[in-house]
Amino acid sequence: MNRFMTDRQKKIFDPTEGNISKAAEILRRGGLVAFPTETVYGLGANALDERAVGKIFEAKGRPGDNPLILHVSCADEASLYAEVTPQALELMKRFWPGPLTIVLCAADVVPLAARGGLDTVALRAPANPAALSLIRKCGFPLAGPSANKSGRPSPTRAIDVLNDIGDSVDMILDGGETGIGVESTVADATEPRLAILRPGAVTREMLAEIAEAGPCSPDKARRSPGTRYRHYAPSVELRLWEDSSQGVFDGESAWCYMGMRKPPKGALRTTIFATPEEYAHGLFSAMRELERCGAKLIIADFPDMPGLGEAIRNRLSRAAGRQ
Ligand code: AMP
Ligand code: MG
Repeated sequence: MNRFMTDRQKKIFDPTEGNISKAAEILRRGGLVAFPTETVYGLGANALDERAVGKIFEAKGRPGDNPLILHVSCADEASLYAEVTPQALELMKRFWPGPLTIVLCAADVVPLAARGGLDTVALRAPANPAALSLIRKCGFPLAGPSANKSGRPSPTRAIDVLNDIGDSVDMILDGGETGIGVESTVADATEPRLAILRPGAVTREMLAEIAEAGPCSPDKARRSPGTRYRHYAPSVELRLWEDSSQGVFDGESAWCYMGMRKPPKGALRTTIFATPEEYAHGLFSAMRELERCGAKLIIADFPDMPGLGEAIRNRLSRAAGRQ
């Protein structure tokens, strides 16, 4: 910490054992702590404390009917907050800690505010040592949506959290840039056939090792309010470059580009990713960088590939305002 730091910057701390203990104390008293996970940064609060949960919705400007993910450290802990079916237990054993959120029937102890009034609850154990240590020190589940203003790209760096909601958080644990870069896969496991409510790094193909998994029905989508809202959007227009799209670049002057293919000449700035993993990792930080480069338009390559490609297409479609 140096003396030229602003009060807001002074909220960022390295995730040492001592600082994680301080963070747990803040959370115990009902405060908000942003923490790193392997996907994106989460905005943590005691999920069992309705007032603390209320602060999350206020800080993010998040609609009250959009439920939160409860972060736990293991399957045993999950069973305190949800009805863990044998299939769910198998999923947890295979993919936890990791980027898979599982929606199950909720136990009564989970406040309705945390689950958007639903009878289900979403649970995940994150694969980040600081996050797991924080959850263990707290002894209660952490409600943890992405630590951005609602509708903005998710934060993959502590500075993104500071820029979006720095005034509302009590502390930010800085774990460096997050590895995966897109949010967890959300799978509804309340029925034997899994419904993928949000694609992520645990892909449909990977889930198929344990259970049949498909996209969610319109009815299920209605029950996952997060799938309804415009999301992940930078402050300038984002346009998709699909294989089939003609004339995407025609007549544009102040545009910049991100993607895996080489764009035509003329971009103000270009961010190229070599692999789908790199694209997912850099997607949100590229949106945040490119919106600041003076362009009126970001053109994004829309990768036509299975696996992680599905998660990338989902975030890009929604950032471009498509459902
Ligand atoms: P975020 O908090 O930004 O990571 O988003 C969490 C996502 O999980 C949103 O799309 C929510 O709608 C979804 N979600 C959380 N809890 C539930 C639940 N009980 N049922 C269905 N979807 C859920
Ligand atoms: Mg989010």
